[in-house]
Amino acid sequence: MTKQSVDRAVFDNVMVPNYNPQQMVPVRGRGSRIWDQDENEYIDFAGGIAVTALGHSHPALVNTLKEQAENLWHLSNVFTNEPALRLAQKLTAATFADKVFFCNSGGEANEAAFKLARKYSYDNFGPQKHEIISFEQSFHGRSLFTVSVGGQKKYREGFEPVPAGITHLPFNDIEALKAAISERTCAVVMEPIQGEGGIINADPAFVKAARELCDEHNALLVFDEIQTGVGRTGSLYAYQQLGVTPDILTTAKALGGGFPIGAMLTTDKCAVSLNFGTHGSTYGGNPLACAVAEVVIDHINQPELLEGVSAKRKLFVDGLEAINAKYGIFQDTRGLGLLIGVELIEKWQGKAALFMAAAREQGLMMLVAGPKVLRMAPSLIIPDQDIVLGLEKLDAAIAQVLASEA
Ligand SMILES: *Cc1c(COP(=O)(O)O)cnc(C)c1O
Repeated sequence: MTKQSVDRAVFDNVMVPNYNPQQMVPVRGRGSRIWDQDENEYIDFAGGIAVTALGHSHPALVNTLKEQAENLWHLSNVFTNEPALRLAQKLTAATFADKVFFCNSGGEANEAAFKLARKYSYDNFGPQKHEIISFEQSFHGRSLFTVSVGGQKKYREGFEPVPAGITHLPFNDIEALKAAISERTCAVVMEPIQGEGGIINADPAFVKAARELCDEHNALLVFDEIQTGVGRTGSLYAYQQLGVTPDILTTAKALGGGFPIGAMLTTDKCAVSLNFGTHGSTYGGNPLACAVAEVVIDHINQPELLEGVSAKRKLFVDGLEAINAKYGIFQDTRGLGLLIGVELIEKWQGKAALFMAAAREQGLMMLVAGPKVLRMAPSLIIPDQDIVLGLEKLDAAIAQVLASEA
């Protein structure tokens, strides 16, 4: 069968308009480079939104996927499988967790986490202890429960009524958390670095206070590490640098390096509440996904790779400073490791997408985090020369925007 030829215009004809993809269609990727239908080359600073942590078409992942595809694709959860068992062993060995629940995306991992938090409190303290505290600008997914816990109203608007018993507090505000937490609180949910919300780092003192307040009130601390996890910040998970251990951690995005998978990690104490029959997912623990994720973890959870993340961050930050010395358009650089956010000065706030589009025209794939922050989340093994080349393209993109808006 010959394949029909398609282009970007087809998107608007046959896809629901909830996305507005850039005006080209990528067809091939290797490492941190991508080519589109017209053979234009791009440097990839976007990393599929913090997903392709080992770049595109990493040979070890390609081989594993092919090998697994020759053996076993799917069983359902009526049967277990070797890749899932091995991956669960590796995740528990590398983290605080004793138990793992597999699913297919970040939103599903959070759905499981929030359901577990409610169920654990229901089992141990009764139905009145069901309130979830979350934070403004946070992002936890697009299902109805996860948009409700998320702190961005625009993602809930029009979808009401939403689940009840959820409070949103200002992020990094210890006093507000002290005032709000009570014996009715079942969980406090946070991202160690708010990603979609604008790359806003949690203050270590705030995280520590949240842990103490949770302990005082028998509430569970849930870390959404879907964006910060799997080496992104320079440690396998960000909590390992914060000195605070959560009760539940969710991970997805980079876990599969581009193959869909999510996981919820927790302790034995909490896990018993998701007893037989209480939750599930047809594809969760799929052998293809777990086989790939196992190799992702093997590659990323290595001291040399994790140290490389910090070294590469320095290259980025130095390069961004040099660009800013020329144009004076950034007012803050945030994030950790290779999750990098630069906030635009007031004059350019609201226009982050202009820079993203100009970057694409210059041959650079980049992200935004809201209307005033440029975001980069490249492969953790992006070659230094690609960082340098990408920053040159960013420089050209900024010059282009400044010239066109002058
Ligand atoms: C991307 C993201 C999610 C949602 O993950 P999906 O795989 O899109 O469902 C949830 N939380 C955070 C912090 C994320 O960055």
